[in-house]
Amino acid sequence: MNNLPDIEFSEELIRRFDKLGPRYTSYPTADKFHAGFTEASYIEYLAQRNNPANSNPPLSIYVHLPFCESLCYFCGCNKIVTKDRVRTTEYLRYLAKEMALVARHIGPDRRTAQLHFGGGTPTFLTPDELGELMAMLRGHFNFLPDAELGIEIDPRTVNDDTMAMLAGLGFNRTSFGVQDFDPAVQLSVNRIQPYEMVEKAVSASRKSGFESINADLIYGLPKQSRESFNRTLDRVIELAPERIALYNYAHLPSRFKAQRLIVEAELPSAEERLQIFLMSVHRLLDAGYIYIGLDHFAKPDDELNLARLDKTLHRNFQGYTTRADCDLIGFGVSAIGKVGHSYSQSVRTLKAYYEHLDIDRLPVEKGYSLTPDDVLRRQVIMELMCSGPVNFAAINQAHGIDFKHYFSDELALLKQYEEAGLIVVDEHSISVTPKGRMFVRASGMVFDKHLAQSTAKFSKLI
Ligand code: SF4
Repeated sequence: MNNLPDIEFSEELIRRFDKLGPRYTSYPTADKFHAGFTEASYIEYLAQRNNPANSNPPLSIYVHLPFCESLCYFCGCNKIVTKDRVRTTEYLRYLAKEMALVARHIGPDRRTAQLHFGGGTPTFLTPDELGELMAMLRGHFNFLPDAELGIEIDPRTVNDDTMAMLAGLGFNRTSFGVQDFDPAVQLSVNRIQPYEMVEKAVSASRKSGFESINADLIYGLPKQSRESFNRTLDRVIELAPERIALYNYAHLPSRFKAQRLIVEAELPSAEERLQIFLMSVHRLLDAGYIYIGLDHFAKPDDELNLARLDKTLHRNFQGYTTRADCDLIGFGVSAIGKVGHSYSQSVRTLKAYYEHLDIDRLPVEKGYSLTPDDVLRRQVIMELMCSGPVNFAAINQAHGIDFKHYFSDELALLKQYEEAGLIVVDEHSISVTPKGRMFVRASGMVFDKHLAQSTAKFSKLI
């Protein structure tokens, strides 16, 4: 099935509107988090949610498992590369402590709708350790029967038994780090995983009953070319994952130490990168995938696409999701949380994490309390990121404003996007056109009040 009419990609528009900017997994963006937001602030927000008079949203839980066996040179994650398996025992002990401390502040009526294990490499943990971790979580939190349980998989670390074991623990969604199948590219980023290895892991997931498989691809890696990436796409399309994320490699060696091992001369030029992107989009659309937004594609019958059609798509720290407005509770080093009108983030190093928990303190390093203006802008930006529509009457009612008056400057700035056919602004709403779906980030930036003072280094979509 060719779904080209649903979305339009124009090289000219990309050159004009693909700007450096945030990906808006939060608003304000994480560079606004500050140390004035403390453990006490976090506990206060958790406590506010325990009022039975409020209808509190379900929980989404994220667990950060930072250990990896070897270093991928493109990596920008908070990870610890080690061969020492014993380190996980200590980490699990502290995770147990953190969970027990947080659970004290969460009312018994709160249900958990979503769980995600990210890293690092979650399967660095042994099957017994993963089982222990799930038992801890189920001991403290009340999971809904249809909860979405997802785990990131490095195909080099799993076999048929691992995927069956994970399914047995209740995981029903998995995301594979594929990146690129070309051997020369894999060698240049120090991540060797032949197609046969990934194919085996994907079919083991299917046999074990995983409902949804995602494959992460990265373009812009060293030694990549249109020809080489085209071959990678052949193989990915053969694997037929339900979802595909096509990430742009952001080379920021001053920020990510691992990336200093990448030979810059081997990186594709900006022009080649654009052509790889355009070719990839066309190939994925021709193969029947639907463009969801930013760098995400899904099969037509995947929940993400159904939510997009129903206008019930949401965005959180894990990207696009079908689960509305959960409170996000993060566990482990550098994990981010979102509770009510607040964000919080834990300390980044194991040392600091253990030190906090040793004295029974939650490891909160920083965070942010949203003002009413932030809450309003967050809603507008997230609705744009999910391709709208932004309905003025609904926003006026929820926030007690007159949208057109409150955002008169922003509406004037949106004119250029309207003239380029990326959005339509009428009496009642802002909607995103098929042409504009790729540039939602640029229209969202118009409503970002903090952007002008931001010191963060943002990337482009392409
Ligand atoms: S990309 Fe994943 S497996 Fe590789 S170093 Fe980073 S976190 Fe570890």
